[in-house]
Amino acid sequence: MTDDTVLRVRGLRKRYRQVTAVDGVDLTVAAGERVALVGPNGAGKTTTLMSCLGAVQPEEGTVELLGQRGRRARRAVLARVGFASGYLPLPPHLRVREFLTLYARLYGAPNPQEQARAGLRQFDVEGLADRWGSDLSSGQRTVVGVVKATMHAPALLVLDEPTASLDPDVALRVRGGLLDLCRRRGTALLVTSHNMVEVERLAQRVIFLAGGRVLVDGPVETITAQLGQTSLEDVYL
Ligand code: ATP
Repeated sequence: MTDDTVLRVRGLRKRYRQVTAVDGVDLTVAAGERVALVGPNGAGKTTTLMSCLGAVQPEEGTVELLGQRGRRARRAVLARVGFASGYLPLPPHLRVREFLTLYARLYGAPNPQEQARAGLRQFDVEGLADRWGSDLSSGQRTVVGVVKATMHAPALLVLDEPTASLDPDVALRVRGGLLDLCRRRGTALLVTSHNMVEVERLAQRVIFLAGGRVLVDGPVETITAQLGQTSLEDVYL
């Protein structure tokens, strides 16, 4: 692995009984690079992410995460990865700021309460701080999941459809917060999304998956130019 590569996947293959979910995927994410993984429902995006994190065991292929290959070695670097997928189940009897403070403490933050506040501020959602876990909508839980994933300044953020259930205003805040954070801290991002406007705003490079295979991999402008389209939305459709 070169020094500036945080994730390198080669020849990834995963089957679920008769379904081939991922069929020979190669992908690379450089340090500080923002990459979107897109494609139709069932294309193999989530399975690819899960294989990268070791939550799914592929039949074939190698995954190198932050310089570590093999499932056991990768476990040691997972603390430097942030991950969020769908809405987060929260303990009902904790307020959001207490929940995030608990995580900041687990991550070893020197000032956990401030870390929790800063996490909410980053996404312009301080209004959630005093809400009880039991009282949050699924969209609000999703946002808390994104905050939690970013609080420990990971080197790589892996986000599976982070804005899928959010209203346009909150989605904008989450996107803005992510972009600012990645640029400021040099955090790499691997994100899945069906929202092509979001992909164009967030990502520098796009990987199109279909039927478990990479169809196109390149900078947004190159893909649209190559395929004679004006926007990613046109390419996608
Ligand atoms: P979406 O955009 O709908 O989230 P995706 O691109 O993330 O889709 P995956 O969730 O990776 O796609 O699924 C890829 C294929 O693998 C699909 O055909 C799906 O039905 C199948 N699959 C995924 N997980 C399982 C599982 N646990 N058991 C059986 N089949 C699965």
